[in-house]
Amino acid sequence: MKIGVMVNNLEPDRLRAFDVARQLGFDVVHTSALPEAWLVGPKRQEYIDAARASGVHIAAMFVGFDGQSYADIPTIRRTVGLAIRALRPHRLEVSRQYSALAAELGVPALATHLGFFPEEAEDYRDLVLTVRQFAEHCAACQQMLLLETGQESAARLLQFIHDVEHPALGVNFDPANFLLYGVAEPVAALEQLLPYVRGVHCKDGVRANQAGVLGTETPVGQGEVDFPKLLQRLVRSGYSGPLVIERESGDRKREDIIAARAYLQALPRVEGIPNH
Ligand code: MG
Repeated sequence: MKIGVMVNNLEPDRLRAFDVARQLGFDVVHTSALPEAWLVGPKRQEYIDAARASGVHIAAMFVGFDGQSYADIPTIRRTVGLAIRALRPHRLEVSRQYSALAAELGVPALATHLGFFPEEAEDYRDLVLTVRQFAEHCAACQQMLLLETGQESAARLLQFIHDVEHPALGVNFDPANFLLYGVAEPVAALEQLLPYVRGVHCKDGVRANQAGVLGTETPVGQGEVDFPKLLQRLVRSGYSGPLVIERESGDRKREDIIAARAYLQALPRVEGIPNH
């Protein structure tokens, strides 16, 4: 398994980030969401040119939207993802624009945080239909659509995947999110989601000590994620995609990412994991 990086954690300047990744020895990346204007405006071509010039492989492009904020759980509930009903038609259109951009760059997967599933049945059904439409669009472009884990339990996410029922649908497994949102133990969640895992984030964190509050992200290896066990399970399952380091907070993201790579490389060798 190759070790990749969430490229915009490494370098926030989107036009420089691909090259920074390359210089630091990463040749596989995931990309963070773009301002919506970049998907249709003049920046689009600059972004494509920067990605191509670097030669790095984008394994998945994250789809996100203007106005999203992860400040706290109520704000996430109000602003994040296709879950927001009033914005859903617009955001589906934006999602299709991501898909076109990904196709142009030869990216095999889109990924997204759906946000919190609606409680109301009709709203939930509408989200299921919307995600199915997006998955159909991705499939027509030879792309997978990966759902980022962690806002809900593995069982709840599995139910949603079964409700959408589309072969292009998979999971980007982020172990830390299960802890940050306080919904599951990551290795147990992996066990349930394994058949759908097509991407992995190596991110770490600790649970909050009260309900309804986000936990705290930590550098990889310093939180509650059992990475040795997690990677062992992934290898045994035949997962062969990249392990993508994600570091969303802190003021030493680049240093933390380099240290995370060293940590992952130094883990006891598991049969099937080349140590690079
Ligand atoms: Mg993640």
